[in-house]
Amino acid sequence: MSLHELTDEQREIRALARRFGEEAIAPHAAGWDREHRFPKEVFVALGELGLMGACIPEEHGGAGTDFLSYVLAIEELSRADGGVGVTVAVHTSAVELPLLAHGDPDQLARLLPPLAQGHELGAFALTEPEAGSDAAALRTRAVPDGAGVRITGTKQFVTTGSHAHTLIVFARDEDGGAAVEPAGADGARRAPISAYLVRRPSHGLRVAREEEKLGLNSSSTAELTFEDTPGERLGAPGAGMRIALGTLDGGRIGIAAQAVGIAQAALDVATAYARERNAFGGPIGRLGQVQHKLAEMQTEIEAARALTWRAARLKQAGRPHTVEGAQAKLFASRVARHWTGEAIQILGGYGYTREFPAERYYRDAKVTEIYEGTSEIQRLVIARALLGEAARSVS
Ligand SMILES: Cc1cc2nc3c(=O)[nH]c(=O)nc-3n(C[C@H](O)[C@H](O)[C@H](O)COP(=O)(O)OP(=O)(O)OC[C@H]3O[C@@H](n4cnc5c(N)ncnc54)[C@H](O)[C@@H]3O)c2cc1C
Repeated sequence: MSLHELTDEQREIRALARRFGEEAIAPHAAGWDREHRFPKEVFVALGELGLMGACIPEEHGGAGTDFLSYVLAIEELSRADGGVGVTVAVHTSAVELPLLAHGDPDQLARLLPPLAQGHELGAFALTEPEAGSDAAALRTRAVPDGAGVRITGTKQFVTTGSHAHTLIVFARDEDGGAAVEPAGADGARRAPISAYLVRRPSHGLRVAREEEKLGLNSSSTAELTFEDTPGERLGAPGAGMRIALGTLDGGRIGIAAQAVGIAQAALDVATAYARERNAFGGPIGRLGQVQHKLAEMQTEIEAARALTWRAARLKQAGRPHTVEGAQAKLFASRVARHWTGEAIQILGGYGYTREFPAERYYRDAKVTEIYEGTSEIQRLVIARALLGEAARSVS
């Protein structure tokens, strides 16, 4: 099968997500952005379409598609609205997939179906005020309490943090359990980190702040505090960083798809504008410099899409995809940030106003160079593999 060939099922999922994006998301995206509104009802509707658990097996309430189908859906949803795109991406690849991979039968039966059907939302809480790229420096603590733990600490920048029903929270075990993680970069042996599942509502779980952001205003990004909050372990004790890094390896492919979707939306608006806007006696699309921009933009978006699909196919095949996912995200996020800016340029003064969506795409695109590992961290991952050094624990 050639790189660009899709199966019938993949085409169907893409068409479904595109139609829903065009009809039910894109017409509202500017309003949600202005009002900073989290469109809960959209996720219910996406659940009914099978897009809140696209790549989750049917036995757990999902649609049972492959990983590339999920990635195609993220691109299309992000083309309509980047905020919806990231909410679905985090929900699926940072919550449902690690739950599927590491959950015990009881956790799968209880927690996965409502997420996969869109009745509930998920969040992934790794980052802390003092631990972002250096996630292994996290300080949130878990102390044993009966069959579970009590969690205390602060998590920063949690996507869907204000709305999620199931949260995966990474915390340091305070019972001195066996360390699976290697010593930190400084060589110090700290208490091991485990992944925990927290349900909302729960004792001591509080939204400390909803972040005001540059863009992605239809997504929720919250600071959460936990005070003796009950949690149950996900996966092996001390395996937290392994679970987090494995999750981000796949998650980055979804963020690359988000970047491709936002960049494609910018190309769509710039192309339409170049056909219609007249200057010096004809449409600006006949001007060489405008054509040059559009041609470069389309070519780089195609290249970003190809890298993203390659990484998705490797993940689907169960093959290593850490470097390929990092390459896809590094390149696609740069393409999105750069070309959304050039789309504004093609629209001239109108591009700088809210009358057109180009400025929103520009604001939304920037964060793809930051979350699920900054571009600097992606370069570290790629360079370390290239130079034969194991990729260290970075998020
Ligand atoms: C909108 C939004 C949503 C998010 N959603 C989530 C979420 O759902 N869950 C979650 O856990 N986190 C989430 N994050 C957090 C995100 O993953 C972190 O912001 C990111 O990993 C960077 O961490 P930091 O912000 O602490 O920056 P820092 O780690 O402090 O980095 C600051 C600067 O230093 C650079 N830097 C750091 N270390 C190195 C190094 N070793 N080499 C070279 N440069 C380096 C960085 O690249 C960056 O330029 C979200 C963030 C945002 C903005």
